[in-house]
Amino acid sequence: MTYDNANIFAKILRGEIPCHKVYEDQDTIAFMDIMPQAPGHMLVVPKAASRNLLDADPATLGKLMAVVQKVAVAAKAAFAADGVRISQFNEAPAGQTVFHLHVHVIPMHEGQRLGHHGGKQEDGAVLAANAEKMKATLAKV
Ligand code: 5GP
Repeated sequence: MTYDNANIFAKILRGEIPCHKVYEDQDTIAFMDIMPQAPGHMLVVPKAASRNLLDADPATLGKLMAVVQKVAVAAKAAFAADGVRISQFNEAPAGQTVFHLHVHVIPMHEGQRLGHHGGKQEDGAVLAANAEKMKATLAKV
């Protein structure tokens, strides 16, 4: 399986399509999932190209997971969550739909049922407000 740089996250990384970004450093970005399974659902994405975890450079994974932790801690605080779900899918039979490595960070509340994976597109204003909430929290942690 090869990496196709026409995938949607490669386009976001090149600035060709917009996203509600919450975090960026030299190696990694994080932004709001456009079809959140719960309020505050984010994606953490390495800038280095790989289809998924299976073909990624281990050094990329190390930097990626450090940001996943930072975003998860901030998400728990920002959305007053009881827990945080981290998920990551490799190839279509496992649920992957966008073929650039990414990790889902989903704030969870007691008794909450997750929405459908790749379900309904969220209103831009809601995504923007949630991104602002996250950025404000990340600035403090
Ligand atoms: P996967 O199934 O590959 O692990 O998840 C891909 C995720 O990307 C899904 O949760 C989907 O909602 C999200 N997604 C798909 N297209 C876009 C997009 O154009 N912008 C953003 N921000 N998220 C997207």
